[in-house]
Amino acid sequence: MGAGASAPHKHSYNANSGVGIIVGKATGKLLHLGVRNKFCSACSQGIPQDRHHCYKNWSASSSEMETDIILEGFLQAERVHGVRYTTMIGDGDSSVYPSLIRNVPGLGHCIQKLECANHSCKCCRGALEKLMLENPAYKGTGGLTEQMRRRLVSSARCAIKMRSKEVDRKVAVRQLKKDLLNGPNHCFGNHEHCSPDFCSTAKDRLPSTSTITSASTHSIEPNPIDGGSRESSWDECTGAGKLER
Ligand SMILES: [Zn+2]
Ligand SMILES: [Zn+2]
Repeated sequence: MGAGASAPHKHSYNANSGVGIIVGKATGKLLHLGVRNKFCSACSQGIPQDRHHCYKNWSASSSEMETDIILEGFLQAERVHGVRYTTMIGDGDSSVYPSLIRNVPGLGHCIQKLECANHSCKCCRGALEKLMLENPAYKGTGGLTEQMRRRLVSSARCAIKMRSKEVDRKVAVRQLKKDLLNGPNHCFGNHEHCSPDFCSTAKDRLPSTSTITSASTHSIEPNPIDGGSRESSWDECTGAGKLER
């Protein structure tokens, strides 16, 4: 019980074929692989379906391929592996989870969804790049340079990491929300609302540094996005002290 599921990273909304996989969180091993094809070259040449091995197995929309594959994996889990998946780690904008809740019989409504920090940061990076491309005024020094975009994503990643150590989840969510909203201020040099937990400028404002405990004292897991750096503060991970103007 309790294997985690992982969905594919990129979506293509008009693709002729799609692949979806489920990987166990504990083992990293492939638990399910599905392929959906809207196109078959033999069919397109007019060869009748009973005269060739047809790979066409999908006629609905491309965006539903992933959902169908992951649902198939969840439905087969007990028969194929003798387990039930109780947790899914997926990306934020997926329709997979609602489908599992609706369609997995029995304990479907108990399946928990965890947001993947890597996916969230990838989405953040993509959104910043889009913002820069759509607004030429944001380009260049002092704007959304590649270095600045990397810092902004790092500040989010760092905050997620820090707040994930907080035992009280309600407090964690509240703090994380504040950190995520404030990350850009910190990266652009305004430390007015920074948490002394990570920002040295905010920490220097405190009457005594001996009160700094909690998140800042925890060791930080290697960051899979930024190549395993072990930053423990926003200053290290976002390089705010070296801000170019
Ligand atoms: Zn065919
Ligand atoms: Zn700051």
